[in-house]
Amino acid sequence: MHGGSDIFDVCIVGAGVSGANIARRLSAYDLKVVLVDKEADVSFGVSKANSGIVHGGFHHNKKYLKARLELQGAMMFERLRQELDFPFKRCGIVVAAMHEDEMRAIEQLYMQGVDNGVIGIEMCSRDRIMELEPKLNPDTVGGLWVPGGGIVEPYRFVFSLVENAISNGVVLQTTFAVSAGLRDGDAWRVEAADGRSLQARYVVNAAGLYADQVSAIFGAEQFAIQPRKGEYYLLDRLTKARPDRVVFPVPTSVSKGMLVIPTVEGTVLIGPTAESATDKRDLATTRAQLDKILSSARAMIPAISEYDVITSFAGLRPILDEDFYIAMSAKVPNLVQVAGIQSPGLTASPAIGEYVKDLLKKAGLKLSEKPEYDPFVVKRPHVKELSPYEVDELVAQDPAWANMVCRCEKVSEAEIVAAVRAGHTTLDGVKYFTRAQMGRCQGGFCTYKIIKIIMRETGLSWDQVSKNGDRSRILKDTL
Ligand SMILES: Cc1cc2nc3c(=O)[nH]c(=O)nc-3n(C[C@H](O)[C@H](O)[C@H](O)COP(=O)(O)OP(=O)(O)OC[C@H]3O[C@@H](n4cnc5c(N)ncnc54)[C@H](O)[C@@H]3O)c2cc1C
Repeated sequence: MHGGSDIFDVCIVGAGVSGANIARRLSAYDLKVVLVDKEADVSFGVSKANSGIVHGGFHHNKKYLKARLELQGAMMFERLRQELDFPFKRCGIVVAAMHEDEMRAIEQLYMQGVDNGVIGIEMCSRDRIMELEPKLNPDTVGGLWVPGGGIVEPYRFVFSLVENAISNGVVLQTTFAVSAGLRDGDAWRVEAADGRSLQARYVVNAAGLYADQVSAIFGAEQFAIQPRKGEYYLLDRLTKARPDRVVFPVPTSVSKGMLVIPTVEGTVLIGPTAESATDKRDLATTRAQLDKILSSARAMIPAISEYDVITSFAGLRPILDEDFYIAMSAKVPNLVQVAGIQSPGLTASPAIGEYVKDLLKKAGLKLSEKPEYDPFVVKRPHVKELSPYEVDELVAQDPAWANMVCRCEKVSEAEIVAAVRAGHTTLDGVKYFTRAQMGRCQGGFCTYKIIKIIMRETGLSWDQVSKNGDRSRILKDTL
């Protein structure tokens, strides 16, 4: 508690990758911070469904704030991974040109990358690009190589950031759907739809697709966030088409194009599309888009097969205009807008944390470092990554390490229990924390086992267990 009152110094609305980075950054200071989200767990918004790429800093002109934050954020991932133990790999990015006339666009990207200060960026001949990524179509004529690009598991990144923020004193309130924001003396009174309320001297609006609504709730700037849908298909880890690098086509004016992404956990993602949407909850995927994605991905990597597809999903980009909108509100006091955080928001997010911390400081928030701040999370073992001898040692302490709940992704009962005890009490929360249900069978074998573990650990009854919150309960008594 700061200043002896029960008023928070900062309330962050939205526990996606932006809000999580801001919360964790502020947790290094002697402040009372609360992070609220309308969903049942963190990272259930835009941050759960994206390409998971740490971008290479060459796609955008550095006149844009998003380009500068992308370059800064991308450099911060090694240190964050050491501290927060989430899956991340700097595997590099290739952009493949399929026709001679695309080499002109490659040259422009190269010049922009050089101008932005991207380290190691290289224009490549056909032989060089094929050497870097032998799975590319032999018809590739050349391309771009950006060794600094990488891949990350986005939800695990958010979970670790929030876990660390909480262990450094941040208060997390989930199912807190902000419905009113009123001035109350020198502070804001932030009210939730379920009647809860809190007070905070500063508010950060990091509400993703709903940043326009949250801004209106606080009487701040009027703007409209447009969703732009991106559909994906996930290929099984046994596919023969897994590249070593992230493979981009030459970009278009509205998107970076449809990619082939070797995920950090061994599967392959193809997509995303880029279609304007009207409904912020529309996450449907369609056969027509699958055909589009497959033909675009196969043009770059011909070995991609429809038979390797294990699931499809979609994400919605929160589009405001060309750039991020990160600034103190000019209309109401002590409110920071963190809106329009479309791609490369995941890459930029660590730098967004720094930027917002600086904005708050300029606006009068006192930042004094906490000597007890600990940037590390406790590392948890994963059966999949251990030798049989190491697993034996764990089983000797707790037989739950021997009970393989998810066979596809090799996740033990002990890991599911750890997820639930860390507060991830929905099926999706457990999935994003452990990867159970993410493999070839997509939960066909393990869902009922996970439901039983959630019930045992939390005391929830069978009809209270949900996929991702109360609107999505799994089992219903229809008799
Ligand atoms: C298809 C696609 C592909 C992408 N690929 C990449 C990529 O490869 N690399 C990259 O760098 N970026 C990528 N991005 C961009 C990146 O995913 C986003 O920039 C980032 O996830 C935005 O995070 P956020 O925290 O701002 O928003 P969100 O993750 O949406 O978080 C906002 C949170 O606010 C909560 N909220 C909303 N309203 C309220 C309310 N009234 N009360 C309380 N809580 C509320 C929501 O529940 C949500 O959890 C991609 C995006 C998409 C859609």
